[in-house]
Amino acid sequence: MIEKAVILSTGDELTTGRIADTNASFIADKLGAAGFDVVAVLVVGDYPDRIGWAWHEAMRLGEVVISTGGLGPTADDLTTETVAHVAGRRLFIDQGIAIRIREFFEAMGRVMPENNLKQAQFPEGAVIIPNALGTAPGFRLDLATAHGTRHLIVLPGVPREMKPMLEDHVLPWLQQTRGGDDVYRSHVFQTFGISESALDELVAGCVGPDEGRIAFRAAFPQISVRLTVHGPAAQVPQRLETLAARLRARVGAYAYGEGETTMEAVVGELLTQRGLTLALAESCTGGLVGNRITNVPGSSAYLKGGIVAYSNEVKQQSLDVRSETLAAHGAVSEEAAVEMATGVRRVLGADIGLAVTGIAGPEGGTPDKPVGTVCFALATASAVRHRRYQLWGSRDWVKLLSSQIALDWVRRFLLGMDPADPAILRR
Ligand code: ATP
Repeated sequence: MIEKAVILSTGDELTTGRIADTNASFIADKLGAAGFDVVAVLVVGDYPDRIGWAWHEAMRLGEVVISTGGLGPTADDLTTETVAHVAGRRLFIDQGIAIRIREFFEAMGRVMPENNLKQAQFPEGAVIIPNALGTAPGFRLDLATAHGTRHLIVLPGVPREMKPMLEDHVLPWLQQTRGGDDVYRSHVFQTFGISESALDELVAGCVGPDEGRIAFRAAFPQISVRLTVHGPAAQVPQRLETLAARLRARVGAYAYGEGETTMEAVVGELLTQRGLTLALAESCTGGLVGNRITNVPGSSAYLKGGIVAYSNEVKQQSLDVRSETLAAHGAVSEEAAVEMATGVRRVLGADIGLAVTGIAGPEGGTPDKPVGTVCFALATASAVRHRRYQLWGSRDWVKLLSSQIALDWVRRFLLGMDPADPAILRR
């Protein structure tokens, strides 16, 4: 029976804080969704004794250990040797993989440095996990230990190589091998506009401890709520649906999407369904709203265009913002946002005009308008909505959060709700 998992991340760049351990969060999320209990995430630098210690600990705590990093060709890539040592297995060279690595270099017109052959070495008994995108394959080693059977899974550190290896090989193998008759299914809601603690309160008691599990994941500026249900295969889909419907009713409009989606994709779908077009006037976000919208394929069908307007002259000349408005209220004001939104809608000939203007910081704040003051307006042919927010965080956070609010405004408007609803982002 495989229930408990440990994630082991190796690399000096992790322990020195130069990169964040995104591999561990990705793997933990996938394991959690599949119903495995991640009991620990261990992170160690590139030292044989520390890696050895981590493997011993990991094998004590979990039936399966998934490791990333340290599979490269250089002297500080120590994972394979250490695993062989910990497992008491000798290393062998897989000739098929050695040829493949050589061919990989030849295909790129390069001669393979001999130390790359290190990546064709595996502990005896290892089952190779192919790497379609890089030279270092991963491997699995099943081991009888004093704690019971342990499955050691070793993957490369590069996220774009590791992810498909996990999803295409490791997870299907784990699902098949885990034992027991229960199946695990998850449903995810993507939310925005509510804090994690408020969301926790909102869904409290909605799903009983015996019915399913709810987990939150905050990935600024959104929070996802994952519902996991397990039980006999014949019952799980219906139970998941019933519980998801209950959660849907509780979370309401804060849930902008379900499953793996983004705010910009949801906005794109809604604009397409309604046959409406959008124009953007961006100050503060510097084109980020337009960038996000155009990350969605086919967005040119509904995005008329955007004007990034920072100086007062550009606001006046390109968006018809009146000099009196700027003089009386300033460029960061609801009044200016309203004129930017109506102006861009008219100038670019769109159904909806959306404007953002604000102070991203760290300079430029005043007592009346501190850093993080951001004003939004949404204009249609018949009405304009506007609101001022006090946001928080560094410059990039203010920009990202503003872009999310702007997109959420369009979503809420298209769903017939008030985009300026004061409940959004109440802290
Ligand atoms: P390579 O063949 O590139 O050496 P590797 O398996 O040895 O692959 P590492 O050298 O440990 O992996 O890491 C390669 C790169 O992958 C790192 O520089 C880093 O950018 C990224 N990386 C490694 N581990 C992680 C992690 N836990 N989370 C996010 N990124 C990671």
